[in-house]
Amino acid sequence: MAIKIFIDQGHNPTGNHNTGAENSGVYEQDITYNVGKYLEEMLRANPAFEVRVSRPTEETVLGTSNATSLQERVNMANSWPADYFISIHVNSNVNPAINGTEVYVYRAYSESYYLAGYVLDAIVDLVGTKNNGVRTNPSLYVLRRTKMPAILVELAYLSNFEDRQRLIDEQYTFAEGIYDGLLNYFDLDQ
Ligand SMILES: [Zn+2]
Repeated sequence: MAIKIFIDQGHNPTGNHNTGAENSGVYEQDITYNVGKYLEEMLRANPAFEVRVSRPTEETVLGTSNATSLQERVNMANSWPADYFISIHVNSNVNPAINGTEVYVYRAYSESYYLAGYVLDAIVDLVGTKNNGVRTNPSLYVLRRTKMPAILVELAYLSNFEDRQRLIDEQYTFAEGIYDGLLNYFDLDQ
């Protein structure tokens, strides 16, 4: 049986509710849309997986408010039902020196937590971002309300110069990192 992966690209397109971070004219929601689509292609090409995304097209808008946008993402995964949920985000900080990749889970030492470790290590290996570790955050809605193991990947910091360049130039490599992490976690061949 194929492993059902739900990919949430995190935010709505620019000009709507529930959009993400912005820096120097670069938008989180465009990066996460692309990385999610690349990851979707990789998973679709592998018969071990079935895949769905929250934003199949660049124009897809979820919900009518921030709250319902998050609810729709969770409902799509729960009603499928997905086996694993991966939310893709890009980070931002007022301090431009802060950089690196981190992955959030609802609680430590869970299935999500171990999956997060594999995904984090593979991204850091491939893209060369700093490893900020797996972090717990029980307040994140999409981690709290999904009924399957769920991780929220913060690819890198849009507010850091080097990370921003990676986020612009290496979107495919970020997707490969998540994909490699999944293959390693499930012990599947590359
Ligand atoms: Zn975000």
